[in-house]
Amino acid sequence: MGKETIVFIDLDGVLADFFQGVCKLHDKSPEDVARILTRMKGTYNIPTALGMSSTAFWGAIDSDPHFWEHLHKTPEADEIMETVLMLVDPARIYFLSAPSLDPKSHYGKAKWINQHYPKFRSRLILSNNKHLLAGKGRVLIDDSEKHCKGFTRSVLFPRPWNSKYAESGRALEYFKKEFRRSLKPLSMPIKHIHLTDPHTREPKNV
Ligand SMILES: [Mg+2]
Repeated sequence: MGKETIVFIDLDGVLADFFQGVCKLHDKSPEDVARILTRMKGTYNIPTALGMSSTAFWGAIDSDPHFWEHLHKTPEADEIMETVLMLVDPARIYFLSAPSLDPKSHYGKAKWINQHYPKFRSRLILSNNKHLLAGKGRVLIDDSEKHCKGFTRSVLFPRPWNSKYAESGRALEYFKKEFRRSLKPLSMPIKHIHLTDPHTREPKNV
């Protein structure tokens, strides 16, 4: 791990079970909706899989005063945290979550962290523009392709609603391998490799 490494961990769909929460809110079976999403092959369109408009989807969430703080942890959450903490200093770990437009989302997410990961309660960053946090040595763990694409180093956590849907049955195994890989130094660009000139014995650029 480089000294400059900072790891950002998404909440919804990675640590917080947003999907189970919205299925419950709309009285749908998560297994049935996951099957529909898998058939949609990673389009990240949960409202469509639930058979509703985006406005109705977010309207129902915004109408529930405790939706965000009452989300369960995902079944993988604690093992994701253990994996990251095994490899990265806790001072270099932040939660990075995109809130909805309703301010209850900001408050509920802060309460969620207080409840489930209180040691990290001062390390929550809320932004819909996660790419602004990207930079050298910065790694994002997220279930959204859009957010992962804003980072040079990222791990897309496999879920039925993203392009890694085929891996969602072995998501933790995939995550552990890819997270270790994301921490490795980038290979040296070819233009910086020096070889010795066989005639002069001087190093030369290739
Ligand atoms: Mg997410």
